[in-house]
Amino acid sequence: MTPELETHLRSLVNFPSPAGVATHIIQLAQDRNIEMGKVAKAIGMDPALATKVLRIANSPLYAQRRRSENLRQALIVLGLNAMLTLALSFSLVKSLRGGKPNGVNHPLYWRRALLGATSARVLGEVSGQTLLEELFLAGLLQDIAMLALDRAVPDLYRDTAELQKNHRELAARERKRLGFDHAEVGAWLMKQWNLPERLCNAIAGSHKLDNRRALDPSDGFNRCVAISGSMVDIFLQPDDRKPFQETAQQVERVFGLGKEEFGRAIQRVSSLIPETEAIFEAELIADPETIVDQAREVLMIRNLHTLQEMGTLREAADAMTERVRELEEESRRDPLTGVYNRAYLEQYLRHEFDQASRNDWPLSIAFCDLDGFKKVNDTYSHQAGDKVLKTTADLLRQNVRRVDVVARYGGEEFVLVFPATDRDVARAVCERIVSAFQDARHDIGPQPVTVTVSIGYATHGGGQRFASVEALVRAADQALYTAKLQGRNRTARYEATDRAPAVQFL
Ligand code: GH3
Ligand code: MG
Ligand code: MG
Repeated sequence: MTPELETHLRSLVNFPSPAGVATHIIQLAQDRNIEMGKVAKAIGMDPALATKVLRIANSPLYAQRRRSENLRQALIVLGLNAMLTLALSFSLVKSLRGGKPNGVNHPLYWRRALLGATSARVLGEVSGQTLLEELFLAGLLQDIAMLALDRAVPDLYRDTAELQKNHRELAARERKRLGFDHAEVGAWLMKQWNLPERLCNAIAGSHKLDNRRALDPSDGFNRCVAISGSMVDIFLQPDDRKPFQETAQQVERVFGLGKEEFGRAIQRVSSLIPETEAIFEAELIADPETIVDQAREVLMIRNLHTLQEMGTLREAADAMTERVRELEEESRRDPLTGVYNRAYLEQYLRHEFDQASRNDWPLSIAFCDLDGFKKVNDTYSHQAGDKVLKTTADLLRQNVRRVDVVARYGGEEFVLVFPATDRDVARAVCERIVSAFQDARHDIGPQPVTVTVSIGYATHGGGQRFASVEALVRAADQALYTAKLQGRNRTARYEATDRAPAVQFL
């Protein structure tokens, strides 16, 4: 950059500079011993900014289960650095927006900035970078100097409406006219604003992509930013297949990512755009879906085979999600009977117990154990026993509500969980189950066979509270022991006076 231009840039009255809050956040970011409380306070001073930070903490970018209700919680979700960086992104955008442009197409400029920011971040995700918010900020600010140059050299961008969609040619025009391009000026600006050196370097190199394989994280950081610029061209020139092809090649060379992974990265950018756009309140592309479709079409013309890959990409992703869900469900089930297994029961029960304790809701559980089941096995075969176990699971399911959980605890023992159910209702349900077993006939021998059941149940809440979920389970188990002792084929409720069986009965 020439000293003349530097002086000129400095002397500009309307020279873009960060607003007060941004300046304050930049200062905070440089303080190594900064406390969380100070950051929350600084951001909280600007309610609009605070809202944005909260919104991003709750956005799909961070895919949190729990909503952050205040800045402190958001701080925990995002981390200090990320929060500062994001806050900085928001307040810089806010302070740099507005002002009358000479030749820069502002809506297009901000569209590019948000797409670039999101692309840089997604490239960081897929290539294993850790500083994702810094990437977002670098991607966001990489072309910031265009705003400054537009003011310093009023005719620089005149009549470049089309050219502004083609970033590389625009930069070439700048170089031809000025001897340098906006990347260089951008790095200089970042330095003036005291932004971290990493950002200055990444922006300085944003037009010079080193096409070799990125070997260490700092290389990777700069190249995510450099490639993000080309990635934006895919979105801004959906009718041209060149940007896609070239960027896919760059990504492959630099990060070793295949076309399919790159296609997925593009889809991720598309899926993040609506939220990012809403947060920054900018108008981005009309419909991110069409971009993905157009990207597919570009490929179709080029290569039918690749199209199939892309075309099936989303379906594959959906199928994968569905498969993961199925596997998860499968891992919770007992293979023989199809009811929940013990591992899931324990997890579920712990959750229900906590809920019930916290909200003071009753929670009932029942232990069911078939009577004389050993004899069924011995008399009719183990296969016949298995058949009875399946019927048992069916009978249990048929006699409880949909919200109740049936689980196989082991062997021929099943546990039922009745959320929000007091002891009187629990008794009624258990009695009903005992009669259902009395009435059921099992087709396992020459004559239909009856297998009865004994049930012990216990209720947490409504006069009796248990210290832990284990204590509640033990109580129902003890009640089952009582039912067996009293002659089987019946129910028994846990009484506080019950004692643990002296000999392990079951
Ligand atoms: P009680 O009335 O006291 O409960 O007598 P029981 O015979 O039912 O009690 P016990 O616990 O002694 O016997 C349970 C039997 O269940 C022993 C075991 O062989 C059988 N069993 C456990 N798991 C399975 C299984 O998956 N399939 C079959 N067929 N039998 C099983
Ligand atoms: Mg038994
Ligand atoms: Mg048993």
